[in-house]
Amino acid sequence: MAANSNLKTNYDCIIIGAGHNGLICAAYLAKAGKQVLVVEAAADIGGAAATHEFVPNFKVSSAHLLHLMPQSLISELGLEKHGLRLAAQELASTALSADGKHLNLSASGVAAQSPADAASYPVFMARMRRLAGSLSTLFGATAPRLGTTAWSDRFAFLKLGWQIRRLGKKDMRELLRIIGMNVYDLLEDEIHSPALKGALAFDATLGANLGPRAPGTVLTWLYRLTHESANGGKGLSQVVGGMGGLTAALANAARGFGAQIETHSPVARVLVANDRVSGIALQSGHTVVAPIVISSADPKTTFLKLLGPEHLDTGFVRKVHHSRARGVVAKLHLALNKLPSFTGLAPDALSGRLVISPTLDYLERAFDQPKYGAYSPAPAMEITIPTVNDPSLAPAGQHVLSAIIECAPRDLRQGWENAREAYLTELLAQLETYAPGLKDSIVGSELMTPVDIETRYGNQGGHWHHTELAFDQFYFVRPVPGAAQYSTPVSGLYLCGAGAHPGGGVAGVVGRLAAQAVLAKAG
Ligand SMILES: Cc1cc2nc3c(=O)[nH]c(=O)nc-3n(C[C@H](O)[C@H](O)[C@H](O)COP(=O)(O)OP(=O)(O)OC[C@H]3O[C@@H](n4cnc5c(N)ncnc54)[C@H](O)[C@@H]3O)c2cc1C
Repeated sequence: MAANSNLKTNYDCIIIGAGHNGLICAAYLAKAGKQVLVVEAAADIGGAAATHEFVPNFKVSSAHLLHLMPQSLISELGLEKHGLRLAAQELASTALSADGKHLNLSASGVAAQSPADAASYPVFMARMRRLAGSLSTLFGATAPRLGTTAWSDRFAFLKLGWQIRRLGKKDMRELLRIIGMNVYDLLEDEIHSPALKGALAFDATLGANLGPRAPGTVLTWLYRLTHESANGGKGLSQVVGGMGGLTAALANAARGFGAQIETHSPVARVLVANDRVSGIALQSGHTVVAPIVISSADPKTTFLKLLGPEHLDTGFVRKVHHSRARGVVAKLHLALNKLPSFTGLAPDALSGRLVISPTLDYLERAFDQPKYGAYSPAPAMEITIPTVNDPSLAPAGQHVLSAIIECAPRDLRQGWENAREAYLTELLAQLETYAPGLKDSIVGSELMTPVDIETRYGNQGGHWHHTELAFDQFYFVRPVPGAAQYSTPVSGLYLCGAGAHPGGGVAGVVGRLAAQAVLAKAG
């Protein structure tokens, strides 16, 4: 552990965690002239958006596709100047089918395979994107406080109402009809092809602990579509060097504005004096003074472990305890000595995203198992082979396969240490049905269970969004009432991680809004 000898004794702001949100918050605050210290527990910056070597000379990042970050944020922080490069953008998606009749998700690909959806699919997607666009205030701005007479809160509600009103009567009525619906019913009404329905529902449920029949899955899909519409039209993109290339650029930007970033520096406690934050104590024993501490650790860790319930009232503590953060995502990384070959798939498609979610019922059944503490034997997956677009991630001619696996519950009945080997065998067998011969080309692998994700990134529950994204944990009650505008019941303590509004994904919106909240309050 570092001796922390280069720390000053006090700063204007301390940020806990150098995930992408912590770094973005730091960059904005430093840009505004604050003296900022970022302290990261791990050896490297980036959190779930870091690139790591999982087998000697093979690298990968847990989060593998960039598609949610607003172009305005990239420009404001000058990330391209600080080293952000895309290896590929506007990546195509293919819905895999075990019989080799795969579906390319572009409008022309859908038209070729599903004449019944040829006309309706583009119209439906255009409508969904319009509806999502009208929610940019909901997902891209600080949630207003309920029951205040402040003009800023009234104005925020008015703005949201106005954006929705501007949709016109037909779209407005449609938005209000579907926003609380489940995506299963919506897609049954609108789409014909089973493969297309399965793939679209996958996007709606990715990272969430909700199967397609769960209410709120249209909301989680709109969340994704709203952010995608702000990303400058780049669509699904891959960063050179993995997502760690983005977080390196963020760190460069933050440092360029004057922020100090210290890794190997786990925070043990947030310090409180006279009912307000006074700094942090590191596990090394070092203390650092600051009137403002902003935590990108998940809300349970922040309030119950780092701050301590003794500084909060019991009602608030109960709400934090009750907030749900049950991760259901695992990650599989394979080091391959050659490019895999998927039955019936043109090699070109390997540069894009492959989805295994062949029908709505397949996906719904996969989500059934985690409810009872079991993993799905037929999980849904999002697969990329990042080395096709970025050979720097593996030795020449060799490849990396990166797969997000849905429906692996954090609290597995038999415990992940007992199930790890059997689960890996099942996953490889499933992949082999789509890509015969894959197993023989594996030179090394890494399986990250939700428990590994929790341990590596320090978020209780190992959840993609830190706190589940669902109607009762959303907008002005996210993560819990009393902490929904980034400030918390303890003066000087703020949140800036995925557990705060609007939620997770490599979007950076939370980090930016948290910095704005700090600057608005502290000047
Ligand atoms: C397997 C997986 C795949 C994903 N794939 C994608 C994807 O392809 N695209 C996408 O957009 N999103 C993806 N996501 C979601 C996305 O990665 C996360 O929502 C996002 O990275 C959260 O960022 P954050 O900065 O809020 O938190 P984190 O990335 O979790 O960072 C928090 C940081 O705080 C640090 N920390 C915690 N406690 C302490 C402490 N006590 N002291 C000091 N530091 C501390 C942690 O070490 C960590 O570095 C994926 C998530 C997972 C788990």
